[in-house]
Formats: sequence, structure tokens, C-alpha cells
Amino acid sequence: MRIAMIGGGYVGLVSAACFSEFGHEVHVVENNPQRLYALQNGEIPIYEPGLDTLVNTNMRAGRLSFGNNIAAAISDVQAVFIAVGTPPRNGDGHADLQYVYKAADEIAQSLTDYTVIITKSTVPLGTSRKIAERIRQKNPKLDFDIASNPEFLREGNAIGDFMRPDRIIVGTDTAQPERSQNVQAILRTIYRPLSLIEVPILFTNLESAELTKYASNSFLAMKISFINEMADLCDKVGANVHDVARGMGLDKRIGQKFLHPGPGFGGSCFPKDTMALMHIAEEHQAPSRLVEATIKVNETRKTNMASRIIAHCGGSVKNKTLAILGLTFKPETDDMRDAPSLSILQRLDDEGAHIQAFDPVGMETARPLLPHTVRYCSNVTEALTQADAVVILTEWNEFRALPPEFLKTHMRGKIIIDLRNIFDPKTMIEVGLQYYSVGRADLS
Ligand code: NAD
Repeated sequence: MRIAMIGGGYVGLVSAACFSEFGHEVHVVENNPQRLYALQNGEIPIYEPGLDTLVNTNMRAGRLSFGNNIAAAISDVQAVFIAVGTPPRNGDGHADLQYVYKAADEIAQSLTDYTVIITKSTVPLGTSRKIAERIRQKNPKLDFDIASNPEFLREGNAIGDFMRPDRIIVGTDTAQPERSQNVQAILRTIYRPLSLIEVPILFTNLESAELTKYASNSFLAMKISFINEMADLCDKVGANVHDVARGMGLDKRIGQKFLHPGPGFGGSCFPKDTMALMHIAEEHQAPSRLVEATIKVNETRKTNMASRIIAHCGGSVKNKTLAILGLTFKPETDDMRDAPSLSILQRLDDEGAHIQAFDPVGMETARPLLPHTVRYCSNVTEALTQADAVVILTEWNEFRALPPEFLKTHMRGKIIIDLRNIFDPKTMIEVGLQYYSVGRADLS
């Protein structure tokens, strides 16, 4: 099948590469000139394990191509996916749909033959219908259908998630049963290789598909905020949050995942999607107090983490040198959007700390977002040099493997503040380090 993908970012590029791996012919439209130049030259403008090989193999096979002209890209395709960004709108946290609508307008002006237009971007309820309405107004004679196919991949494991998802959600206009059946058949064809490994495809109406994405992300964010609160309680009562999380997670109704405490959730999805869902729920007079609380708990968490670092440094970080290990919101990505490091480092900088940071892949994306006084180091050793305290903000494997003696030898002070619980408290304390982690009061 011939497919066009509008947007060559994390989701668009991964989806396009995977669809081409399925055997489809995919053309990606990307309007950022730097990103496009890189892609056309076989370079990957984002960090995502395995993507380089997948993109280049499929480019060489002639199944994957890149350009900036929507009209040329969609003239003979059967399906167009919209995978552009939907960031929070400045000032109010609603999803900003300007990129989605602009893409829809360009699609409307360019299409002549029957095509299915599919929103892969995360969009508020009713957006797919609004896209259809806009297209109808701009191009009244066009025969087309709309579908919603939200994406659930995680950065850092995006290809694995796309190739072996837990489920695929497809929303169609079920008020028109015949057309809906036709769209379902097209989406089934697109995802056919996944039916061989028995990935369930759930067909719903448009609104259910749109809401499933927000509800899933908000639920996961809520799980994180919940375990973070339990970690704080563990610190007070002498319990161990990992034992509590394991005890909870062994109950199949709860599940083990997303019960790891840390400095708060971040990234391009959870903060913006919880915020958007809160607004959607308010607008429809069905407010979600749980989602509101999840957002508040997370905001407070980041502030508390900065205060905790200051407290562990003796009540002040003024003129102290802090080695910050990890900047991205999670390992295996260079994405800095809404990373907890942004607010934590800003506060530490405001309090007069000298910050020496190292992140294996995130420093280039971090640089424009962090205080200009942050000194970026080329490796862990450089970051540790003369450090009074070390703060672990991201659980990169490279940091997990650091021997306690190595930390002790290369830093000046003895304080280790591990906000990801990557080290064993006993071994850290045994070598004479002052070790602080999260929710492990029984061990620290
Ligand atoms: P992104 O910012 O990395 O990528 C969007 C790309 O679209 C950019 O490269 C931008 O230049 C391009 N673009 C914007 N308007 C365009 C146009 N008119 N024509 C051509 N290109 C255009 O965003 P992303 O992280 O890939 O997210 C895309 C959507 O997918 C969002 O709605 C997001 O919420 C959702 N999503 C993201 C993830 C994730 O982990 N990043 C996971 C699931 C869903």
C-alpha cells in the first residue's frame, strides 16, 4: 500500500520506518528544513535505538522516502497519516492544534482521489471530526474518510513498541457503517503483519479512540505520581518503596509497570496529555479530580526534589559543585521536553550551585533549555571532578554500572543523591559515601 506520513518526528519517523518495513511504500513529509536535509541524507535527527538501520535499509529498498511537498506526496496514496506535534498551547495547557489543522488544510487542497486520512497525533476529543469538517469545507467534492489511530510507542523503545504493540486502536465514523467497514479494512491491511503475531486491533468510534490515548497516558502518569507519594511516605515510616511496589504489582489487577519512584514524570507526552485531558474534562463538565491531582503532585514533586537535594547538601548549595548525571526525562532518548531536570537545575542554579552535567545523548538538546551557567562535561569523570555532591537524575545504564569506589575516588565530597534508586545503598555506605535515595528509609 502507498502511504504518506505528515511529520517526521519521533512518532512520524518511527511509524513510517516500521510501515515501510512491513512492505508498504511510505513517503514522509517533513517541513523542518534541517530535519528534512538530515533524513534525505540517511541521517537520523533524533536519538532512537535501531532507527538508523531501519530507515537506511528501507530507503535503500526504495520503500521509504522524504520530502517537503504534501501535494506531491499524497497524489497517489491510499492513506495519509497526520503525525505532527500537538504541544501544550502557550499559557493555558490546552493542546495546540495549529500544526494538525495546517496539515489538514494542505491535505484538503492537494487530494483528488479517495483517501483515508488518519490522525496519529494525540488530539483532543472531536478533533478528527473537526479535521473532516475542514477538509469538506475546503474541498467539498473530495471523497475521503477520517480515522483516529493514536500511537502508544515509548521513546527509547519505539521500534519494539511499534512492531509488537499491546494493541492497536482504530476509531472510525461508526455512524456510517459501510464507510466505517471500508476504513477498517484499509487499516487492517496496513497493520496486517501484526495480525500474524496476534496483536489485537480494537475498532471504536472516533471519540473513544481519541480518549483512549489520553486516558491511557493519564492513568500511567497517575500510577507514577501515586508511587512517588508512597515513596515519600516510606521515607517517613521506615518502609521500602520497592518492596511495596513489588507487593502491589504482583497483584495482576495492578501490574508491576510504572511503579518506580523518581523525580517526577516528564517527557513529551505525560505532562501535556494530563494537562490536555484535564481541560477536555472541564470543558465537557465532567472534571477529573484524579488527573488534576496527578498534575499537581508531579509539579510539587519536582520542587520537592530540588529542596531535597539542597537539604542533603547541608541546607545550601551556594558555591557548591554538583555533578549532575543525566538530563533527559528517561534513558535511551535525547528528548528534553518537560524533563524534571529543567526545573530542578534552574532552582539549583538560582541557589548558587556550580553545575557540572553529563548526559550520554541529551546534552545538545538540553543546552538551549537549561541555565547558561551549566557546564557540560564530556564524560562522567569530568563531571565528578571537584564535585561536592553527585545527583543522579536519569537512570542511564552507563551510570548504573559505576562502581562506588570510582565515584569516591573522582569526586571531592561524599554526597550521592540518587533520585532514580540505581545504586545499592549498602555498598555505597560501605565505601564511606553519604548515600541518599528515594523511599528506601530502611536501607539509607
Ligand atoms: P515531534 O515534534 O518530534 O514531530 C513532529 C514533526 O512534524 C516535526 O518534525 C515537525 O517539523 C513536523 N511538522 C509539523 N507540521 C508539519 C507540516 N505541516 N508538514 C510537515 N511536517 C510537519 O513530535 P512527536 O513526538 O513525533 O509527536 C507527534 C504526535 O504524536 C504528538 O501529538 C504526540 O503527542 C504524539 N505521540 C508522541 C509520542 C512520543 O513518545 N514522542 C508517543 C505517542 C504519541
